[in-house]
Amino acid sequence: MFFKANFKVLVLLVLLTFSALALHRFGFLDTSLSLLENRSSDLFRSVSTSGVIGDLTKKGDRTVLKCHLESTEGFNLCGLSVDLRDGLGRGIDIGHYDELDLELLYSGPFADPKIKVSFRNFHSNYSSLKDPISMKFNTIIFSAEKYSGVLTVPLDAFRVENWWIDQYDIDFKDSQTDFSNIFYLELLSHNMPVSGDYKITLDKVVLRGEIISENNLLKLIFSTWLLVGIIFLIRQHSKLNEISKRDMLTGLYNRRGIQERLSTISADHAVYMFYIDINDFKGINDTYGHDVGDKLLICFSRMIEVKLEKHQSRSYFSRFSGDEFVIIFDDLKREDMLALAYAITLNFEKPVNIDSYSIPLSISLGIAKSSNDDNNFDSLLAHAGAAMYHVKNNSLLSFQEFDEAFSENVYYKKRVSEYIKEALKQDKFFLNYMPIYEAESLKIVAFEVLLRTNFNEMKGIGPHIFIPIAEEYNLIRELDLWVLENTFRGIRDDYEFLSDKALTFCINMSCDELNNPLFISSLRDLLEKYDIPPEWIELELTETSFVEIGQEGINVLESIRALGVKLVLDDFGTGYISFNQLVNYPVNGLKIDKSFVDLLETESVSSGRIIQAILSIAESYQLDTVAEGVETAEQFVYLRELGCQHMQGYLLSKPVPWLIAKDQLINPETEKLKNLTSSLNLTNKFKSLMSLLNINN
Ligand code: C2E
Ligand code: CA
Ligand code: CA
Repeated sequence: MFFKANFKVLVLLVLLTFSALALHRFGFLDTSLSLLENRSSDLFRSVSTSGVIGDLTKKGDRTVLKCHLESTEGFNLCGLSVDLRDGLGRGIDIGHYDELDLELLYSGPFADPKIKVSFRNFHSNYSSLKDPISMKFNTIIFSAEKYSGVLTVPLDAFRVENWWIDQYDIDFKDSQTDFSNIFYLELLSHNMPVSGDYKITLDKVVLRGEIISENNLLKLIFSTWLLVGIIFLIRQHSKLNEISKRDMLTGLYNRRGIQERLSTISADHAVYMFYIDINDFKGINDTYGHDVGDKLLICFSRMIEVKLEKHQSRSYFSRFSGDEFVIIFDDLKREDMLALAYAITLNFEKPVNIDSYSIPLSISLGIAKSSNDDNNFDSLLAHAGAAMYHVKNNSLLSFQEFDEAFSENVYYKKRVSEYIKEALKQDKFFLNYMPIYEAESLKIVAFEVLLRTNFNEMKGIGPHIFIPIAEEYNLIRELDLWVLENTFRGIRDDYEFLSDKALTFCINMSCDELNNPLFISSLRDLLEKYDIPPEWIELELTETSFVEIGQEGINVLESIRALGVKLVLDDFGTGYISFNQLVNYPVNGLKIDKSFVDLLETESVSSGRIIQAILSIAESYQLDTVAEGVETAEQFVYLRELGCQHMQGYLLSKPVPWLIAKDQLINPETEKLKNLTSSLNLTNKFKSLMSLLNINN
């Protein structure tokens, strides 16, 4: 199809090229201008010196000038001038003509008299309207007798007259012939050495040229070919690009295509993903052969497409792999999603007819919805996939939605716990570091260590999902130790670099460790093994874990502190610790939970008051404060004015691999961040909020 279209354009281009060249060759692109035609007789004048009597007559197209010279004394001249100016007094431009056809006769009282034909132009540099003689003479001189009939002169045979150049002391550029603003055509006697009668008979002066010169035509043709070639290449490229996003068999998007489609959907749209797997497709292939299998896949996708077409919502349909299909819906209501899910599953109640076979088909459908903080492809896929597997293993279900209830689903959690074990075994975990900044100086003072995995099966399953599952399935102690040991190892590897930086590494610990009698000794052993100064380490424990803490837990905390390791309360504000209980806990600081920082965006004074209260309590207990999840300049300025000492959040930096974190230490972006967090960015809303809380900015 594409190549056919290309070929047509190519043939058309060849035809165009040849016809343009032929048109040019056979003169169809010629143009001409007759200078005397339709010019009224008062524009023709005789020009002569005082010793000469000139007599001009005009009859039809013929102009005749007779001159009589009495005596050869002094300088004598005789000729005729044609005024070429238009009604507005502007000259004509003849520069784009190539040659001049002259039909004239000239005779004098001696043999071989010469005539001078000039185009005189006007230029403000050297001409004045009052003194037309100062205008430039572009001239040819020739013996008219030699040429009977039409004389064709190329325009570049014309020369500027020397006397004129001398007289006006003209520079190089102005001494060139110039046909741009021609006021007059003049025919004058070249010299009058003998007394008697001179006669000029003028019939025709025609300029000839081409609409486009051969050179320019060739250039134009070449440019057209070049342009068309480039367009072809670009189209070819985008076509290939398009093909690379398509599945060859069904013409649907492939994995790459659907992934890209999702990235074009605005983040504030509710996106649903349908993950469809054909049950026992392998069996179908084995029974009926691959040909039938392929046809079935095509037929299957058409059947689904028909269902999608009936629907208003924009959707993108892809064959994700073998017998797995993914559909993404942009802005779909939940009712519609359910209706569609039913419609799609009902579709396959009856067998599908391929060739002469009637093949029973069933599918497993898993559905996931994007959430505000988690609308990336991998996590949608992980969720929809998990729901799909659940359907597959549960013959009573036709489809399953991944929602909060489902994430609590035992099958799902069991599977994730298996993945965690496998990822640990295959060493598929790694660490990211999120800088924590001092609010005033915007210097990095600490890093929060965050666990990540690149285990394929866990794509899209972040720590907020797998950590609680690890806790439930008794894998957390192993994970926490892995994080401790790998953080320490990292510090040891860069010990020299870190030794003068006074940085703290904040490591998240599960509350489970408060009931773990071995934790303290493991921590002490690891500190010793890697020879880590304990004051470089801070452990973050969630506030919720403190609510029900007993004396044993407090003892663990005390022993951690006794090692010289610091402690902070993470997610502070979510656990309903009574403020006056704080004094019982041996902690060094509080981390204000992201949810309060988020509220600053929407809610008014109340969230500000809560944060203000937290900060003033922290101050009275001499606790360090960190606000987490700072995403906007407004939140930053607001928190800083309230007196929060440290900040962490996407506004300042996302969690990054150690090499990048290290680079942030070596090349701090303090100035950039200062601009980013400048109070100039404060909106009116925030200003009024601050004035309500009596904060002066
Ligand atoms: P957390 O301790 O509250 O960690 C902060 C989480 O908030 C991190 O998510 C971080 O990426 C995210 N965050 C920080 N600033 C912003 C922001 O400005 N905007 C947004 N949208 N998010 C921000 P992450 O890494 O997914 O961690 C989730 C939770 O998983 C952590 O919450 C922590 O409870 C747990 N976790 C992470 N790593 C570990 C670990 O090594 N051990 C244990 N036990 N838990 C961990
Ligand atoms: Ca934390
Ligand atoms: Ca937190």
